[in-house]
Amino acid sequence: NTDSLTHNQIYNPEVYNNFPLCMQNLLTNLKTHSHLKYTGRQQLSIFLKECGLNIEEALKFWQISFQKKYSMDDFNKNYKYNFRHNYGLEGSRINFKPWDCNQILNKDPPSNDMYHGCPFRDWNKNKLVDYLSKAKNVYTNDNLTKFDINTIVDLKNQKDYMMACTRYFEFTKDVLPHNEMITHPNLYYQRAKTIQSN
Ligand code: SF4
Repeated sequence: NTDSLTHNQIYNPEVYNNFPLCMQNLLTNLKTHSHLKYTGRQQLSIFLKECGLNIEEALKFWQISFQKKYSMDDFNKNYKYNFRHNYGLEGSRINFKPWDCNQILNKDPPSNDMYHGCPFRDWNKNKLVDYLSKAKNVYTNDNLTKFDINTIVDLKNQKDYMMACTRYFEFTKDVLPHNEMITHPNLYYQRAKTIQSN
């Protein structure tokens, strides 16, 4: 993995717009609540690791993200180990791989105050439609059409969440080459970066 990402680039629109909706949802809620529960931390932190955020940058990012609720001492005492563990630097020293969409969808859906999971499954229809009607294509600045929104909602209703995500990618960016389907959040990020650099 030759990518690199620094802690202060994560909310930069040029980077943030390349993240899939599941990760944007975690990041928005991390900003609002200055905390994420365990499953959300795992989903986001290993994704960001694969995007090129090294352990030093990761510790800065999470400490700053938590600082409204947790002092540096509390962070070091209660959370630092967890993030170092995700980088294979503690305990069993496993180099954890980021979760693919199936792994994310196989976990229990988020309950109150939890933001992990897949928005195409976990947001109710109204919340998703509301979000999609404000979404724009990042290159043309056009809103999604009613047809686009209905296409995504129909796929959600059919429980075809990865296809809903794939269409969302196409409507907000560009078509994916070779009819490729989004099956992994890091694939979404990589393809978004490629389109951005073309
Ligand atoms: Fe994330 Fe996968 Fe859901 Fe897309 S389909 S939002 S990448 S979990």
